[in-house]
Amino acid sequence: MDLYNVLNLLGRGTFGTVHLCERKHNQQKIVIKRINIDLNGECAETAKNEVAVLKSLNNPNIIQYYDSFVKAGTLYIVMEYANKGTLFEFIAKSRPKRFSPQVVMNLFCQILMGLNHIHSKNVIHRDLKCENIFLTGLQSDVIKIGDFGISKILMNNKNANTLIGTCNYVAPELCDGKPYNIKSDIWSLGCILFELCAMEKMFEGTLSNVVLSIAAGRRKMIDTHFYGFQMQKMIELMLQIDPNDRPDTLKLMCLTDVFPSLHVLGTNLGCIPHTHKFTFDE
Ligand code: ATP
Ligand code: MG
Repeated sequence: MDLYNVLNLLGRGTFGTVHLCERKHNQQKIVIKRINIDLNGECAETAKNEVAVLKSLNNPNIIQYYDSFVKAGTLYIVMEYANKGTLFEFIAKSRPKRFSPQVVMNLFCQILMGLNHIHSKNVIHRDLKCENIFLTGLQSDVIKIGDFGISKILMNNKNANTLIGTCNYVAPELCDGKPYNIKSDIWSLGCILFELCAMEKMFEGTLSNVVLSIAAGRRKMIDTHFYGFQMQKMIELMLQIDPNDRPDTLKLMCLTDVFPSLHVLGTNLGCIPHTHKFTFDE
């Protein structure tokens, strides 16, 4: 911590606190997440390995992990600061207005590009949800996936088959006690796309409510007059009960509705922040 000044507390999560800090030598704002899981022996090794993997991820749509250290058995992770809040807050603030299909596609494609990079490195996010997607950029127009479910890995080592954290985005196979896989993230992505269109969650309530709704095949529909059938189909595709039936990120990127938006974003993201004219305030 000698290298950083602590500025203020950003919030508390299930496993610890998140502080806004600055690097002493150049005043760069960064975030330090403190994970209060007793790190001894094997667990400390797992934590170190996990952070090493996360540090190797590098993509405009992912919160960059810079560094980590263990002090008095507590894990500290130093990462990029996103200064415009979360997608969860953005949706809440925008209600009761809804996003245009173009804005939904832009947001979705940015998340998809970030997730594609994560999956291409064989990493599973494990906690994909609107609270863990952050807004940045001059016009809040760049969104980044952050807050990987590292605590889930550390907890699962001690206590396999426990589901911790938010359950709204949890894939059915995880409720059955099966391990996380790449397609569990795709389920969460489907829930997020629905939320971007409907401005409400696909599954709500306690874990047992969510499990019952999934088992009963209870699904909400988006307004297909406004967003088109293709969007509804895409959501259904990602919310297949059998993980093998869900598309991977590459397959999603090739869909006719997605590919053109990806192309536009791909050319824009290269020139952020100066020439990226898109704004969500339309
Ligand atoms: P969970 O434990 O389920 O992840 P949480 O997301 O509410 O719950 P934390 O992940 O500990 O809790 O985050 C606490 C707060 O810090 C949240 O408000 C979150 O939005 C904010 N935060 C986390 N990472 C960043 C970041 N890189 N930049 C800006 N704010 C962040
Ligand atoms: Mg979080």
